[in-house]
Amino acid sequence: MALIVQKYGGTSVGTVERIQAVARRVKTTVDAGHSVVVVVSAMGKTTDGLVKLANEITGQPSRREMDMLLSTGEQVSIALLTMALHTLDQEAISLTGAQVGIVTETEHTRARILTIKTERLQRHLDEGKVIVVAGFQGIGQTSDLEITTLGRGGSDTSAVALAAALTAEKCEIYTDVPGILTTDPRLVPEAQLMPEITSDEMLELASLGAKVLHPRAVEIARNYGVTLVVRSSWTDEPGTRVVSPRPQPRPLEGLELAHPVDAVEFDTDQAKVALLRIPDRPGIAARLFGELANQALDVDLIIQSIHEGNTNDIAFTTVKANLNRAEAVAAAIGPALRSNPADTTQAEVMVDTHMAKISIAGAGMIGRPGVAAKMFSTLAEAGVNIQLISTSEVKVSCTIAEADCDRAIAVLCNAFEVTSSPVPHGETTGAQTAPVVRGCALDVKQAQVAIRHVPDQPGMAAHIFQLLANQGVSVDMIIQSQRCRLVHGQPTRDIAFTVAQADAPAAQALVKAAAQDLGFGDVVVNDAIAKVSVVGTGMVDAPGVAARMFKALSNQGINLQMIATSEIKISCVVDEVDGVKALQAVHSAFGLAGKEAVVVSA
Ligand code: ASP
Ligand code: MG
Repeated sequence: MALIVQKYGGTSVGTVERIQAVARRVKTTVDAGHSVVVVVSAMGKTTDGLVKLANEITGQPSRREMDMLLSTGEQVSIALLTMALHTLDQEAISLTGAQVGIVTETEHTRARILTIKTERLQRHLDEGKVIVVAGFQGIGQTSDLEITTLGRGGSDTSAVALAAALTAEKCEIYTDVPGILTTDPRLVPEAQLMPEITSDEMLELASLGAKVLHPRAVEIARNYGVTLVVRSSWTDEPGTRVVSPRPQPRPLEGLELAHPVDAVEFDTDQAKVALLRIPDRPGIAARLFGELANQALDVDLIIQSIHEGNTNDIAFTTVKANLNRAEAVAAAIGPALRSNPADTTQAEVMVDTHMAKISIAGAGMIGRPGVAAKMFSTLAEAGVNIQLISTSEVKVSCTIAEADCDRAIAVLCNAFEVTSSPVPHGETTGAQTAPVVRGCALDVKQAQVAIRHVPDQPGMAAHIFQLLANQGVSVDMIIQSQRCRLVHGQPTRDIAFTVAQADAPAAQALVKAAAQDLGFGDVVVNDAIAKVSVVGTGMVDAPGVAARMFKALSNQGINLQMIATSEIKISCVVDEVDGVKALQAVHSAFGLAGKEAVVVSA
């Protein structure tokens, strides 16, 4: 007999009839021989309604009173669902977060879970009862017993945390969509249901999946190895399994306060090839990486930042054994790319074999500004200069001089309290059969900020991103490119990053002030961008994935403004007006529409 945690979202318990349907599903699960803990959200749009009421009274409600108010929504649904179970002759009891002992920090409206007491839950389970728990809420750890909430959408987090605490067999998230789709079906009608996805992929697809599954819930599932199933409340279809590799056992104390970084990774077997001053027009990246793929040369990092004039620089890394062939491809392609013969700027190929890639990885960095800044400042304090930077949702990678690698590992492990020995790149994936691309996402709510001519010396990136973090500005993608300019005899590089559009004015002001103080060049802000990303564990060691993506985009005449990659993700920034077209092109280029789509619609 297994223990199953089931979570039902607001729509699933939106009416009395739906609550009764949920009760029947719970009963069926019990009748099949399982113990069940149910977590529910507030009915329908109750929470939104409560927020609106508060706003009618004051524009600045106290965060404590918001928790007092919003936590009532879930209390209604747990009582009603429990009554519905009673009418089916199913023994059941409802409990608030406080009654269970879901202990949180006393950070009203955004509390993180510290631990979950399991004694009372265990007692009721032993009595054969279904336990119906109010999602989204907890109790502060101080003697005042303050009611707290976990932040909007937090019931997913409650459910997965309970599953982790009770070592449940799985946590089922019942919702009003059939599961997780390969992309947003409103933009790409051919989007398909994914039968399975890894939690790492899910985290990298946060901008796609966050509406269906709270990233904090995925983080807990990953850290504690909880199997998640996202499925529809209206059908018996199996939905999507979100799977995690078996993690090292960890205590329940500090459940959600695990370190934001859980691994420091490095790779000294890489070399860099940079193609400088190539024309800034569609098709260039496709051609370069297409030719590399033809030669079965696998590339790791790919970085391209904003153009300067009408040219651009692209850098990539590859294993050292492939360097000579990769360099030859780049050298052969360089001259052919020049846009017009009158152009005196010469494309140039540069290689570097004395480099190392060093990365920090961890789901906990989502939504916590300052993690990247801390990495940069830690390296700066150790006198390590950063050459290239590429980030994704859950990873920051830098290239540095090979001679600095050991020192960099030591200071980063120390700064982020990573105690286990550092993982060489690529050893944690292990998913042989995973598709090269599992899903793709489009983000149009970002703005791009670029700073030109930042002195190429330790501490600059640290300074910029620390300023932003201090103001609570979350930075999404960070790119430091290859382009190196001499300004007053001082080598400089460009640093570009993206932030939420709402944060762009603040980011621009901060960065402009810093640019003046420190003598950087222009600060350029562009609101009209879109980021299109593909994610898949199977792209590790599979040559040609980037080439296929770039080709699909260039076939549509779409210019790539920036490129950043991690092991399992490739992101391109394009013009905002091209966003949807780009997503559709990429989705179909990787065959994500599937054959089933044809069969179903026939
Ligand atoms: N009821 C809360 C909200 O609407 C929590 C949840 O449903 O996950 O945000
Ligand atoms: Mg939700």
